[in-house]
Amino acid sequence: MLPLVQQLEFGFTDGQKREADEASGEGFTSGADVCETFSSIEPQVLKSGFDRGLTAQCAESLLCLGLDGVAAVVEVQWNSRMRTTAGRAFWPDARIELNPKLEQLAPDEVQRTLLHELAHLVAYARAGRKRISAHGVEWQLACAQLGIPGERATHSLPLPGRTMARKWRYECPACGEGFDRVRRLKRWAGCYACCKQHNGGYYHRKFRLLESQLDVD
Ligand SMILES: [Zn+2]
Ligand SMILES: [Zn+2]
Repeated sequence: MLPLVQQLEFGFTDGQKREADEASGEGFTSGADVCETFSSIEPQVLKSGFDRGLTAQCAESLLCLGLDGVAAVVEVQWNSRMRTTAGRAFWPDARIELNPKLEQLAPDEVQRTLLHELAHLVAYARAGRKRISAHGVEWQLACAQLGIPGERATHSLPLPGRTMARKWRYECPACGEGFDRVRRLKRWAGCYACCKQHNGGYYHRKFRLLESQLDVD
């Protein structure tokens, strides 16, 4: 299974802000604390599924930016299976997933997370076939237009006992697209976009992701 670089995640962080582009959201250095914090929430109070109001809000914003095509298909969903990630944007699906635990633990962050993810859709819609980096200038411009100028790739959120450490960085030698992971990939992985575009969707070592280790405190 190749990692999908289009699946953008916006993870929770605690303390140190990290500039890294992508968070895998797969692991935490303090996993036990996370489970405890999140398990204290009654499952029945968590939202799940399609959110009509937030979807309408996104569609309206997209229309204002002249992105009628995306406005017609955009969808916002609450995903109660998400553990450590606040929000995700899927492209070209034009789907945003939000973690319902976010609403319980930091309700003020819901709107910003929504706009952060929406900015990803705006940036990708405008870029068309051109490759752009996840939190690059196109995304930053979209953030400013959506009302969250100076938005960052990751945030410190006021949630207890959570630390995100991203130890491994993976970058495509061909297109430069990259992402970070908490856990090291068990197998060699190829760049999804390049393998798809240049090799019929099959892995080729030319597009093998370069691995590097990041400083972790
Ligand atoms: Zn993001
Ligand atoms: Zn690539």
